[in-house]
Amino acid sequence: MTPLEFDQKHLWHPYTNVEKPGPTFVVKETEGMHITLDDGTKLIDAMSSWWCMMHGHRHPKITQAIHDQLDRMPHVMFGGLTHDPAIELGKALLRVAPPSMQRIFYCDSGSVSVEVAMKMAVQYQHAKGFPGRSHFATIRSGYHGDTWKAMSVCDPTTGMHHLFQGALSVQHFVDRPPIRITEAWNDDPALNGLGDLRALIEANHREIAAFILEPVVQGTGGMYFYHPEYLNQARAICDEFGVLLIFDEIATGFGRTGKMFATDFCSIEPDILCLGKALTGGHISFATTMTNDRMAEGIGNGEPGIFMHGPTFMANPLACAAARASLELLEAQDWHGTVNAIATQMTQELAPARDLPNVADVRVLGAIGVIEMKHRVSADEAHALAREMGVFLRPFGTNIYTMPPFIASPDEVSKICAGMLHLARVL
Ligand code: PMP
Repeated sequence: MTPLEFDQKHLWHPYTNVEKPGPTFVVKETEGMHITLDDGTKLIDAMSSWWCMMHGHRHPKITQAIHDQLDRMPHVMFGGLTHDPAIELGKALLRVAPPSMQRIFYCDSGSVSVEVAMKMAVQYQHAKGFPGRSHFATIRSGYHGDTWKAMSVCDPTTGMHHLFQGALSVQHFVDRPPIRITEAWNDDPALNGLGDLRALIEANHREIAAFILEPVVQGTGGMYFYHPEYLNQARAICDEFGVLLIFDEIATGFGRTGKMFATDFCSIEPDILCLGKALTGGHISFATTMTNDRMAEGIGNGEPGIFMHGPTFMANPLACAAARASLELLEAQDWHGTVNAIATQMTQELAPARDLPNVADVRVLGAIGVIEMKHRVSADEAHALAREMGVFLRPFGTNIYTMPPFIASPDEVSKICAGMLHLARVL
């Protein structure tokens, strides 16, 4: 059995049928912008390996930080103990995060950070005398992870809620905000989506702990960029009815949108903020749930007086060291200028796609470039075609998109855009 045959027989890949595995390629190594396959094919990673690898693969500063930490202490439990990597990362996070986000819970992955956020919201409401507030409001087309509670607030159609009926908590959904970030804001609640949100919260607030959503950019649910004013006004509606606000910035955090956090497009801050993906520059799985003093005090003063979560690998020192190194790299560079330059180039070079008959929309926000097709595209077909052009692209749904690492050179950005245009022409 070759290694690939073993893989195809025994290993499940994301969203696949292990009985009928699709085409899979063995990666030999990664470096900077590139993924090298075992046959020597070198591909530009236009996906930043599912949006995490913002400084490129195997960045020497991050791998060095992991090596150094590995030699001292790969792991130690966080119960009753603490360590420098956790503390120094905490300081770095407070330097960049929205100012009210003063309390930090470290966890293992994005989905877990969403679980933690939802649990924080329920515990806070319970502590404040509202034990009935154990459900959530959210917008359609969202994505928050694949664990049960996170899944319950993912889009009901793409999240296959009918399949998991009975197992998933039933949540409250409103349509996604209809006004895009590039459009003029309209104060009419019947047209800006806030009328529906108010109606939903007004009717159900006695059972809603929090309103959870991806601020400004809906990622997996459609690469949709909406107007931040929706969030400012949603905050006011939440406050009026005692509903908490959770921002899931797992995909948008750390400069991806052209702001450090998508929250920075707004004049408000959430009660709870989820971060993951690019937190370690994509080098190790890690995430965090941040919250404000009011939440921490509320949870601490309620029953049972502690926050009921504590994973085995909480604050893993290797992950903390990687995340600190990644944040320091980000802070030391003109990431804003870099992301803007990538955005400007993608805007120019993806524009010709607008004239293609099967293209519904072309949009760019920060280092996110999207060609939305009128039909669904096959990820495997797209991958095969892009591979011939030296680019790794893996579209989903109707979207051919890129989130390149910030180290992408103008030439590499051009190759990515050419690959995307090629897919939009032939698929
Ligand atoms: N929230 C958002 C907005 C995401 O994009 C993702 C991952 N794509 C998650 C949560 C889940 O993160 P993870 O895959 O690390 O569990």
